[in-house]
Amino acid sequence: MRLKPIIALVIFAFCAFLPQKLLALSVDDVRFGVYPEKVRMVLDLSDIADFRTFVLHSPERIVIDLPHFDWKAGEVERPRQVGISDIRQGKLQPGISRIVFDLDKPAEIHTAYLLKKNNNKPSRIVIDFDVSDVPRGLDSTGKIFGTLSLENANIGGSVQKASYLVPPVKPDRGASNTFKPLIIIDPGHGGVDPGASSGSSIVEKHIVLALGHELKKQLLATGRYRVKMTRERDIFIPLKKRVEFAHKQGGDFFISLHADTIHKKDVSGASVYTLSKDASDKQTARLAEKENRVDLIAGLDLDIEDEQVAYILGDFLITETTNQSKYFANMLVSTMEDNGLKTLQSPHRYAGFAVLKSPEIPSVLIEAGFLSNRNEAFLLNKDSYRRKIARSIVSGLDNYFAQNHRN
Ligand code: ZN
Repeated sequence: MRLKPIIALVIFAFCAFLPQKLLALSVDDVRFGVYPEKVRMVLDLSDIADFRTFVLHSPERIVIDLPHFDWKAGEVERPRQVGISDIRQGKLQPGISRIVFDLDKPAEIHTAYLLKKNNNKPSRIVIDFDVSDVPRGLDSTGKIFGTLSLENANIGGSVQKASYLVPPVKPDRGASNTFKPLIIIDPGHGGVDPGASSGSSIVEKHIVLALGHELKKQLLATGRYRVKMTRERDIFIPLKKRVEFAHKQGGDFFISLHADTIHKKDVSGASVYTLSKDASDKQTARLAEKENRVDLIAGLDLDIEDEQVAYILGDFLITETTNQSKYFANMLVSTMEDNGLKTLQSPHRYAGFAVLKSPEIPSVLIEAGFLSNRNEAFLLNKDSYRRKIARSIVSGLDNYFAQNHRN
């Protein structure tokens, strides 16, 4: 038998079954955005990939590890405020390459996540961090963000172990290609509790119910989700009952829909909230107070209700659940911005919202916009605008569950 055809056949067979993942990954661009409260680094990738990122001290560095990649980002523009003295990249160990940003000042990473290709934008890694003249405490050391396996990881001397992985691993749900996550949609308020109003005929409870129905329709249309709504009609449901409902149904994700008002009529934009014992800012503390008060409107005692939702923030499960909620919230904010929706400044905020207190179900509360803003109230009242918001939420969930699948 002649050898050449056999070799050709072997090569052909190998190529035909070459998994997508083996195709070369490239880092196509690196950009920085400087904001008052953070610096955002965005890496455009040729494809989604596992990554991990962390900081190292003395000398100060931000490190990103990825599967082997081709560097196509060329010369990276470095904003002066960030103080990047050098950018290096190269192979670290078999299968893994590293990018190192040498910094003048200590950095702390707040969050890091991956976004799948959408709306003509490439797949990308987003890293939010800040740099400071003040030396960092040890607590910022050891946090590793990302999904790249830590086995054989050459992390560097000052980082002992991973204490924080994003996204956290969801419990095994069995065969991943038959798993359809159950999304619990929670249109806020209802019945005796109208929620916020524009001062005219536009009322929160109706807007969020319509948005909930639209979101349900779009999620079901993908064929990738199951959906339950805490209310499908104009009825009042106490906050605790909404949390209980999600738990009894075995929900995989909980989305509470709201619209806000504020005395400053020019303020507009969507925002996303996750649970925290301490509020991110005064405005959010007030918002949580307002949203939690609705049970009082219907004559329920909030304190007793609250106690019955067994909730300990220090609990491991809650920390994991909160990490997933935060991870989703950041991704959703980016998806909304990609889809051209206006968002509030620092659109991911947190406080002690009673409706987000499911210990085991990642939960977010979305304020779709402000009814106190005439233009936004008008938009929120339109089907077309609500379709756009729902589309962003669907892409956010797609991104989130794609990531969880990969774990
Ligand atoms: Zn509300």
